[in-house]
Amino acid sequence: MSIAQNLSLIREHIPAQVKLVCVSKFHPDNAIMEAYQSGERIFGESRVQELTEKQERLPKDIHWHFIGHLQTNKVKYLVPFVELIHGVDSLKLLTEINKQAEKINQVVNCLLQVHIATEETKFGFSAEELLGLYQSDKLSELPFIRVCGLMGMATFTENHQQVRKEFQTLKSLYDTIKTDYVSGNDDFREISMGMSDDYQLAIEEGSTMIRIGSSIFGQRIY
Ligand SMILES: *Cc1c(COP(=O)(O)O)cnc(C)c1O
Repeated sequence: MSIAQNLSLIREHIPAQVKLVCVSKFHPDNAIMEAYQSGERIFGESRVQELTEKQERLPKDIHWHFIGHLQTNKVKYLVPFVELIHGVDSLKLLTEINKQAEKINQVVNCLLQVHIATEETKFGFSAEELLGLYQSDKLSELPFIRVCGLMGMATFTENHQQVRKEFQTLKSLYDTIKTDYVSGNDDFREISMGMSDDYQLAIEEGSTMIRIGSSIFGQRIY
């Protein structure tokens, strides 16, 4: 199946209000352009250099999302053009993004990553850390950060019940923050959860943004 066919199949299964991030990491420009020509404009990459190179070469109306683990020393390369950074997982990283954003006087959209999986290899704040961050005054000291919501990755498992539970954990944490800490703040509205294997479950559990790679572009060759 072609990329265009994959996309129209996926489009049939997602409600119109759920945003689709086409995860194009490790795929060449021509694959991205095929999705672009089918109407897609949001693309996600997980390596800074690959992203900045693609951004230079490809159409300027693409909305680039960074979905990988971001190191503080690379923040400055992304800040000028990135539309959304999904995986912000520490105060240190928030502080660096704020600093680089202030230099160019531009507010940067971020999602706070929450560790919902059982695997230790996945990054993110714990629920306690995240609530601690909101209880402290620290976010208000970072005026160049716009927190647009939360992001999470479920455990890599065939066990759908477990995956569903992890998505429910993220949704309920989102609801808590929304009502207890940022009520009335419309910026905080995204829950980025769901990938090729679990996006249907994620949507059922309240995802607003799904990140799909292999179901669109095929297997990645590393
Ligand atoms: C690679 C990646 C995806 C896409 O994964 P697929 O299984 O290919 O859909 C989604 N989110 C993150 C954070 C990723 O690194």
